[in-house]
Amino acid sequence: MNYEAVIGLEVHVQVRTASKMFTRVAAGFGAPENSLTDPVVLALPGALPVMNREALNQVVKAGLMLGCAIAPVCKWDRKNYFYPDSPKNYQISQYDNPICVGGSVEIELPGASRNVMGAHRAVALTRIHLEEDVGKLTHGAGGSLIDFNRAGTPLMEIVSEPDLRSADEAFAYLTALKTIMIYGGISDCDMEKGQMRCDANVSIRPVGATALGTKVELKNLNSISFVRAGIAHEIRRQVSVVERGGAIVQETRDYDGQTGASQSLRSKEMAHDYRYFPDPDLMPVRVDEAWKARIRAGCPELPFDKQRRFLSEYQVPYTITSVLVPDRALSDFFEEAARLSGKPQAAGNWIANDLLRELGRAGIPLGASRVRPAHVAGLVKLVEAGAIPGPAAREVFAAMMETGEAPEVIVDRRGLRAGTDAGELEQWCREALAGDARSVADFKAGKDSAINAFKGPVMRAAKGKANPKLVDETLRRLLRDA
Ligand code: ADP
Ligand code: MG
Repeated sequence: MNYEAVIGLEVHVQVRTASKMFTRVAAGFGAPENSLTDPVVLALPGALPVMNREALNQVVKAGLMLGCAIAPVCKWDRKNYFYPDSPKNYQISQYDNPICVGGSVEIELPGASRNVMGAHRAVALTRIHLEEDVGKLTHGAGGSLIDFNRAGTPLMEIVSEPDLRSADEAFAYLTALKTIMIYGGISDCDMEKGQMRCDANVSIRPVGATALGTKVELKNLNSISFVRAGIAHEIRRQVSVVERGGAIVQETRDYDGQTGASQSLRSKEMAHDYRYFPDPDLMPVRVDEAWKARIRAGCPELPFDKQRRFLSEYQVPYTITSVLVPDRALSDFFEEAARLSGKPQAAGNWIANDLLRELGRAGIPLGASRVRPAHVAGLVKLVEAGAIPGPAAREVFAAMMETGEAPEVIVDRRGLRAGTDAGELEQWCREALAGDARSVADFKAGKDSAINAFKGPVMRAAKGKANPKLVDETLRRLLRDA
């Protein structure tokens, strides 16, 4: 029997805002333990929550970018549970009235060639809702510690339909989702900092069947690669259980990325009953058309749309666009250099290859780069005009990285310009020698510095465009024969 996998992902993404979800204390990472707290975060008696409008803006933006329907009215619900990571004993979340419904994430299907854009498809979303994050527990030999800095941070949950069919598709989905969130400035999605977390629901069914199989939920998948590995492992485990005549039990399993094994955490019988009810401290929110329109106006072009546009508008090959597009700042850098130079393909090559390599070597981010789009454009123009040969262009690029000077300045100072016609240069040199018999005699008498007397007139004749090294060589050659 052949089986097919069915996967749905629940992804938690920390929403980037200055303050927490229901109070003004700062939301941040890396502060001393329990310093980002206040009476609301700690649920002290009488402290009341007030919604952070910016957090909702961000989730509406995410929803609009993903093609979700934005609920005209959403509300806040209490998800009740008792655990030390939550000081209130409930989490403010959205239950039956989430802010975003439907929508999809465009993914690039696995197995495509690395050199051409592969097939794409839309993975359906169920919903996106907004809630508050909980604190962080650390268990050690001396006991367990709790840090409430993360508690109350805005957190959105993006739930997909059981629409993914392989571990590789799940990987592509998370990669695409992460890029979109970063593009929108909605989250940095750094999984190491816990800004993006994923639970994977996995089931199998015989190929051709339409009914869903019993699902197993995998928790603690803390990198995109672990998600892929965890799902692949779970699919194999389920197939082997079924092939041995067993049945899949609905349960939550913990996948250990280090050992590559999973173990059961809890079964369906122990599933929580959260007894959701509307939070009486918070008003429902109405998102009207004007609000949506304002946010829509700030939504960036989606990454895959941009990639298709780079391909059709600039004929930049996929190998280059797939380097540029995932980084929004880098693709903006590219477009500026393409516009300034009028040569998008050459600009794309310099940026995707040389700029990234040099930045990597120097260990600095694009934002700190001395080479700006105008530098790349200037260099591209010099090369295109045949003003400097290829190897010299590399040298100019390295010098631009170091000094931030314009390529023209570097080319002239280093005498790299190949533009001047050799015959013309020789003519100017002859004229300079003919005009200064005394310096010719001095040079012949052994005074080497006398050669400098000819260089001014030659440079004037060349309007400064002559290669100084070449001028020197030509003068010496003519003086030898004179
Ligand atoms: P729960 O209430 O247990 O969280 P949901 O029905 O809300 O379950 O679904 C949670 C996630 O599990 C969603 O991403 C959904 O697509 C996925 N899912 C649901 N049923 C299955 C299934 N049979 N196989 C794989 N994934 C599933
Ligand atoms: Mg679940």
